[in-house]
Amino acid sequence: MIEPRATRNGEPVKKRNVIVVGGGIAGISTALFLLDDGHHVTLFETGQPDKGTSSGNAGVISVASCVPTATPRTIANVPSMLFNPHGPLMIRWRYLPKLMPWLSRLVLNATPNRVQNNARRKAGLLAHASENYEHLLSITGLSGLTHQPGLLTVFETERGWRQAQWILKLLSDIGREVEILNSNEIGQVEHGLKPIFQHAFLTPDSGHILDPNKLMLGLHEAFLARGGVRTSERVLGITRSDPKCVTVSSANGEHTAERLVITAGAWSKKLLATIGIKVPLEAERGYHVMLPTPEPGLSHPINVFEESMFLSPMNTGLRLTSGVELASTDAPPDFTRVRRMIPRALRAVKGLHPDERQIWMGCRPSMPDSVPRLGNIIGHENIFVGFGGGHVGMTLGPTIGRINADLISGREIDFNLNPYKLQ
Ligand SMILES: Cc1cc2nc3c(=O)[nH]c(=O)nc-3n(C[C@H](O)[C@H](O)[C@H](O)COP(=O)(O)OP(=O)(O)OC[C@H]3O[C@@H](n4cnc5c(N)ncnc54)[C@H](O)[C@@H]3O)c2cc1C
Repeated sequence: MIEPRATRNGEPVKKRNVIVVGGGIAGISTALFLLDDGHHVTLFETGQPDKGTSSGNAGVISVASCVPTATPRTIANVPSMLFNPHGPLMIRWRYLPKLMPWLSRLVLNATPNRVQNNARRKAGLLAHASENYEHLLSITGLSGLTHQPGLLTVFETERGWRQAQWILKLLSDIGREVEILNSNEIGQVEHGLKPIFQHAFLTPDSGHILDPNKLMLGLHEAFLARGGVRTSERVLGITRSDPKCVTVSSANGEHTAERLVITAGAWSKKLLATIGIKVPLEAERGYHVMLPTPEPGLSHPINVFEESMFLSPMNTGLRLTSGVELASTDAPPDFTRVRRMIPRALRAVKGLHPDERQIWMGCRPSMPDSVPRLGNIIGHENIFVGFGGGHVGMTLGPTIGRINADLISGREIDFNLNPYKLQ
C-alpha cells in the first residue's frame, strides 16, 4: 500500500464520518480513498454497480482528451448534425426548453479564448489521471483490468483530417505526446482495421479498461471488504448544513455525518438544488452496443473521427459507443441510432459479426465548459462535490476521488483547485 502523505499541519488524519452520495467511478473512488485514510464511510447508491454510466462507457483512460465539447466548430456544425440521422448529436425536442440555459452557456463557451482556457483546465486534471488510476487499482488489486495501448483516432477522408488539425495543435500546445500515422502505418499498428483509413494519430499515454463492468463490481466489493457501508436508499435532499455537520434525507429518515460528498453524476444537480445551489449540469446521454470479438481483433480502442464512434475491444466483446443525445436523464432510451452504427463498424473492422449481444444507455454528467467541479462548496464547507466528468468522467473519477479525500483528510494538494470549485 502507498504510504499516506502528511496532513497540512503534519498531524495524523482526523477520522470522520462521511456520507458519499453516488457510487459511480467518482463516488466509489472517493469512498475507497477515504477508507484508506481511516474514515468511516457510508455510500448511498440506488443502482447496481455494474449497470450505470461508469460501467457502460468505452473504457478509455483518455488522458489526452482535453478538447471541450463547446468549440466554434461544434456550434457551427450543430444544424447539420441535428438533421443527419447518422450524426453524432440528437436532441429530444420536448426537452429543449429545459435545456436552453445549458445550451446558451455552451455557446458562450465556444469562443477561441474560452476553448483554450477550458482545455487547459481539463488538461490540468487529466495530467494526474494515470497516476491516480494506478493508485486506486493497486490498493484494490484490480490492476489486471487495465493496460496502456494508446488511443488511435482514425480518419477516412482528407476533409476529416483537415478538420482535426486544430485538435493536434491544441494537444501539442498542451504538451501531449502524439504520433501521426499514414495509411500504411495504420495497417502496421492496428491489424484489425480494414484499409479504409487515410490518416490517424495515436496518443500513446492513453490507457484502456478491458472490462469496466467488472472493474466497477470489483471496486464496490473492495469497498465492502474494507469496512465501507453501502445502502441502496435514494438520497432525496440535503436538509441541514452547518459548520458542525451535514444531514441528508431518504425515504427511511435522516442521516447525519461530519462531511458529505455529492458524486451523483448527472443527478447531482437535483441534490444541490435542495440547498439552493443551481448548477448548469445536463446529461449528454450515450449508448453502446456489444458485438462478439472480431477475428483478428483490435489491439487499441479506436476513435472513428468522422462517425463520432468509438470501437472498444473488451474482454467481453467489441463495444461500439455512440455520440450524444440531449434528453432528460429519465427519458426512455432510443436505440435506433446506435443500431445504425453497426453497419459502419462492419465497414471498418475485419472479421466483425453484427450479432448484437447487449445494448445500453447511460448519462455523461456534463457542464457547459466541459470542466468537472470538485472540492468543498463555498458557503457549505462540509459539503464536497465531484461531478461533471462528461466525456472523460471515467478517466477522471479516481482523480476526483483522490482530491476530495485529500481535502477531507486535511492534506496538501499539489495544484490550484480554484478553477474547479463550485461558486
Ligand atoms: C457511451 C459512453 C461512452 C463513454 N466513454 C468514456 C470513455 O471512454 N472514457 C471516459 O473517461 N469516460 C467515458 N464516458 C463518460 C463516463 O462514463 C462518465 O463521465 C462517468 O462514468 C461519470 O461517472 P460519475 O461517477 O460522475 O457518475 P455516474 O457513473 O453516473 O454515477 C453516479 C451514481 O449516482 C447514483 N445516484 C444518483 N442520484 C442518487 C441519489 N439521489 N441517491 C443515491 N444514489 C444516487 C446513480 O445511481 C449513479 O450510479 C462515456 C460515457 C458514455 C455514456
